[in-house]
Amino acid sequence: MELLRLLTRLGMVVALLMLLSARPAWADTSGEPIYAPACHAASGLNTGLDAMRPRAAWTCDGTGWRSDVPAVWLRFEAASWKDGELPRRFFTRNARFRSITFHAIDADGAVRSLALTEADGNPFPAGPVFELPLPAITPETATLIARIEAPHSVPMLTEARVTHDLRHADWSQVDMMLLAFVAGMLILPLLFDISFFLVLRERFVVLHAAMVTAMMTYVLAAGGLASAFVTLPVAMIAVTGALSWAVGVGISALFLASFLERGAQSPAMRQVTIATGWFTMFVPGFFALQLDATQRFDDVGYFITFMPAIIVISAAVIEAILRGSRSARFLAMAWGPIIIASIERLLRGLGLHIAPSSHDQMLYVAIGIEVVVISLAIADRFLALRRERDAALTEAKMLEQLSARDSLTGLMNRRAIEARFDELLSQGFNTFALVDLDRFKMINDVHGHQVGDAALIACASAIRASGDRDSIAVRLGGEEFVVLLRGPRPIERAEALRQAIPMRIAKEVPGLDMPVTASMGVVVIDDADASKMAFAEFYARADALMYEAKASGRNRLCYERLTVFRSAPEGRRIKDERAA
Ligand code: GH3
Ligand code: MG
Ligand code: MG
Repeated sequence: MELLRLLTRLGMVVALLMLLSARPAWADTSGEPIYAPACHAASGLNTGLDAMRPRAAWTCDGTGWRSDVPAVWLRFEAASWKDGELPRRFFTRNARFRSITFHAIDADGAVRSLALTEADGNPFPAGPVFELPLPAITPETATLIARIEAPHSVPMLTEARVTHDLRHADWSQVDMMLLAFVAGMLILPLLFDISFFLVLRERFVVLHAAMVTAMMTYVLAAGGLASAFVTLPVAMIAVTGALSWAVGVGISALFLASFLERGAQSPAMRQVTIATGWFTMFVPGFFALQLDATQRFDDVGYFITFMPAIIVISAAVIEAILRGSRSARFLAMAWGPIIIASIERLLRGLGLHIAPSSHDQMLYVAIGIEVVVISLAIADRFLALRRERDAALTEAKMLEQLSARDSLTGLMNRRAIEARFDELLSQGFNTFALVDLDRFKMINDVHGHQVGDAALIACASAIRASGDRDSIAVRLGGEEFVVLLRGPRPIERAEALRQAIPMRIAKEVPGLDMPVTASMGVVVIDDADASKMAFAEFYARADALMYEAKASGRNRLCYERLTVFRSAPEGRRIKDERAA
């Protein structure tokens, strides 16, 4: 467990280092032929290009970005464009929109326009962005204006760029390797979950697997890794990314409620946690669809409706820690980085803080850390549950043993021997020696029941022969016992036990005026495997021999040896050989 704690601490440090080292990749335009818009503007649907000619129509200080408007205008100035590197492509973050119209305006007033729709967007093979062609840009072009109708996301506007060569716009290989590493890291916990579930059958293991699947989908879609393998429409990538994040966070809340130890959550907190889980899957999940009808508010709606999840999950983990939950401390470590990265992402999504999408890497790294730490937490829980289960099993075994024992002598009782009889027969216990103390009623009558009990205990010790793996002593009831024997010379060994009884009783129960002897009826069956004789049959035969022994004067042994002829024509024939 110390090792586990050390590993998770180490994970935290690595996470923080990775978070700190997350660097802007393609949006850092210094020195690269990638050009950001100088100004932006918002308008109604009927505003034409002419209305946008005055400088006053534009905001040029990088503030006031909004997606809750019918149309957004971006204005790129040619002043900084290098001759050999005139922009030819437009690219921006994956998100839904209705249409984009580009206007390349030359110094002499000539305008070349190109109108495109969402379906024309090409996702990059690697990166969370899509690209579109531009109308011809020439050395005479002074301004490029883009009019985006019904945009669904602020980052789609703040991260819009133009470039002459898309290779510059691509995410770096390091970024993609990091993404692939995180996605790969998520596969291991899934395998863990399957093996844990096979043993534990706990609901939280299934929820964890669902959570990991959602997170993996998010990393593949929102990180752009999916586009390296399949070509999907921009709309599908945008919706899948946003939706899988909502589902993943929602399931995390359900997982939390199911994973915490019983009593780690107050009933009210548990209810709120579960409600928040479903709310997050459905409400931000709905805004993730980026429907036409919700274009004015789905961007804000999506991020605002994540607030309850962030607040409730944090509060629930804190409450559980205060209530002494061990699992909650794991969750705090797992979710600390992700909550911080989510808040950053949330502020960026709302346009309250402008930063390149490469900051998403913090979230991806945090997801990787999260899933690994939670897998450790599940492993830890797995060990604890197994310890509990083992303790319960030991107790059950003890109880079973108790019910198999006779309480006075500690010998096996009749119930136990009958249950195991066939098994013992097949293990070679082919001798059934029935023991009955002689005139025992008199001992009770003369010396009292307590002395009688002491004599029974002494008798049990005499026939127990502890450590002998070839004999099993049983108290059938009253002063009647049976010893099962296997191995050579069974009659001699039975007789030795019988003779040991009076000596042992005399030694352990002082004050008896005469020896307490025992009679025996012994049945030996050769070839026990072939016979499969039932307990009742052995007992009946031994009892008959016992009657003989009692009748002929007690304190003696009568036996019979049964031999089975397997080849006999009428099935089984028994040769009976009797002796006293
Ligand atoms: P014999 O077997 O030699 O024919 O005579 P017996 O006196 O032993 O006769 P029987 O088997 O009929 O009597 C058994 C007596 O064992 C009856 C009862 O008083 C006594 N007994 C049975 N169970 C217990 C017990 O648990 N404790 C004590 N102290 N006595 C018991
Ligand atoms: Mg008796
Ligand atoms: Mg008896």
